[in-house]
Amino acid sequence: MLNLNRDEPECFSSFKIKNKPHSYSDDCDDYELRECLRKALLKEQKHQCFYCEKKIENNSQKVHIDHIKQRNVYHKLECEYSNMALSCNGIDNKKEAQYCGKYKDKQAIWDDEKLLQIGIEKSSDFFIYRTNGEIGVKKSLSDNDIERAINTINYLNLNHKSLIEVRENIFLQLEMYKTQNYEIDEIFIWFNEFESLFKGN
Ligand SMILES: [Zn+2]
Repeated sequence: MLNLNRDEPECFSSFKIKNKPHSYSDDCDDYELRECLRKALLKEQKHQCFYCEKKIENNSQKVHIDHIKQRNVYHKLECEYSNMALSCNGIDNKKEAQYCGKYKDKQAIWDDEKLLQIGIEKSSDFFIYRTNGEIGVKKSLSDNDIERAINTINYLNLNHKSLIEVRENIFLQLEMYKTQNYEIDEIFIWFNEFESLFKGN
């Protein structure tokens, strides 16, 4: 999961001043605004899904603006940029979402007590990327933190089989490039996805 410095784009700030929106679906149903939000998020997330960090493009069939805490419950966060993220649809040859934003929204409602505080806490302080492709949790954490980190991984299904496979494959390639003395930052530019995996290793 990415750690972002949230910076509300000017288009959204001025839209809010002018229109004073309360509801995202009704008051923010504006093509230009949505496109501007998508572009801002895409840039901030360096073209990666906020949750799984797979490479994404600005294609409305494949990605969506996700409300991290579900907007049908967290009404005050409906029009908060900090609660928005661009997510892949989590679909691998299946119709139903298998992971990320849409998978999350099929689970229980976001619970602050049980999950990591996205935007406040950094996932990199909790997660470790194993060379077998799995995301694990740092053992040095408190029991409560370990539980919240595991809950968050499960809530988004970040250890879905297909994600594990891709990450394991990246690790294999990473080892090869390292033996050729390439720097991690340099290698990341070639892949341009799964940034946390590169930063953590
Ligand atoms: Zn994703």
